[in-house]
Amino acid sequence: MFRPYRLSAGVLLSFSAAALGFSYTPMTDEALVDQADRVVLATVSKIEGSPRSEWARYRLSAVESLKGEINPQALIVAVPGSADPGADGGLLVAGAPRLAVNERVLLFLSERSDGDMGVSQAALGAFQVVTDGGESLVVRDVSEVDTPGNPYAGQAHGVRDAAAFSAWVRDRGRGQHRGQDYWRDKKPPRGNGPKYALLEDPPARWHQFEQGLDIDLYAGDVGQALLLAGGYGQFRSATGAWNDDPQSLVRLRYAGQSGAVGGLNYSDGISMILFNDPLGDIGGTYDCDRGGVIALTGYRYGAPASVGGRVYRPLLEADIVVQDGAGCFLVKNLGANAGEVFAHELGHSLGLAHSCGDPRGSACVSGTAADAATMRASPHDDGRGATLTTDDLSGARYLYPQSGTVSVPPPDGATSDGSGGGGGALGAAASALLAILAVLHWMRMRILADVSCAGRAEAKKGAAPGAAR
Ligand SMILES: [Zn+2]
Repeated sequence: MFRPYRLSAGVLLSFSAAALGFSYTPMTDEALVDQADRVVLATVSKIEGSPRSEWARYRLSAVESLKGEINPQALIVAVPGSADPGADGGLLVAGAPRLAVNERVLLFLSERSDGDMGVSQAALGAFQVVTDGGESLVVRDVSEVDTPGNPYAGQAHGVRDAAAFSAWVRDRGRGQHRGQDYWRDKKPPRGNGPKYALLEDPPARWHQFEQGLDIDLYAGDVGQALLLAGGYGQFRSATGAWNDDPQSLVRLRYAGQSGAVGGLNYSDGISMILFNDPLGDIGGTYDCDRGGVIALTGYRYGAPASVGGRVYRPLLEADIVVQDGAGCFLVKNLGANAGEVFAHELGHSLGLAHSCGDPRGSACVSGTAADAATMRASPHDDGRGATLTTDDLSGARYLYPQSGTVSVPPPDGATSDGSGGGGGALGAAASALLAILAVLHWMRMRILADVSCAGRAEAKKGAAPGAAR
């Protein structure tokens, strides 16, 4: 039987302008060690409970502590999202690490209020230990930070020597600060591929707009720390940015504050933005000098069905979680950064993926429309606020076309080179442009969905240590 809920999510990462010029990862290794309550080398021995639970709980064995006291008998690591998100009713949270039984891992952990440990800074705090050419190496997947202009992108994917990195972490944890001596000048071994996707195939969309219905969006009743008036104004502006396009049917309604706290943890039928990560979905804290995760967006959707000749999954609920500490970034450019980030996250909640800079999607190239888009994987931090570009809006126009406006052809029948437009009128040219943009979005959806499906299949089989997940 089909279980209706699944969640996919986008994660927005940032790097600090204040630290430009240092060759560190978005979250420096120093910051990761300093912020983590524990750091362990361990083997994933078992998945506790149902593999489709909304939190994956991993039992670790062969635990070696690099920082902090550990009771190896009682070490459970809880990660948002199902251990097997492909199972009926499973839940997919992008940006949250997914571990495989028998896999050797190096994890930066933060204490949770329920006694389990969480992974600090989502995917930034989880590493795989892999063997390559007889060497034991430590790698991780942080594909979303792989954007040009990000000074840390190279080292985000950098390969660390397992023994040297472990020794460095152990020393740092004891207060012995020394230089990084663990980098290996080689490409990450295969198997370090992305483990999540942002959009599903078939794509997800809200079906209410063409019925003249709004999607109500609430905001948590505690505003984001540091933001003037909590950030509610910027969130409202961000909903308006998507609504104001006459060529799409998008109708997001800011419905005011709510004390609901389901967030990513369980479905309560309320779509909302939760400030300051009140449920600890994102381990650790955002730090403007050291980077980290700013926000996660997740959505739940129902069984695929045909609408207007296209198959979609109906969106049922979307939730945005803003990381605690992120106010220092959001307040920049007189608070315009909050508008940019909220508009970006709302794009995910409408069913859109990143325009560029995403796992296996196209890299961001300066000067291109995709790079200029607010849906780029990393924020521009340029004072744009809650504004959208044609590239952003083309996705919304494809999913939610306004009748009587330029029709975006079905992706399957369209050509990717745009040569089939015919006609020379301005209207036809605009139509061709939209078609190309829509196809690019569609291709991205397909690519991401393929990644997702491959990940699920591997997870079900139980990946060997170091294998692709
Ligand atoms: Zn994003």
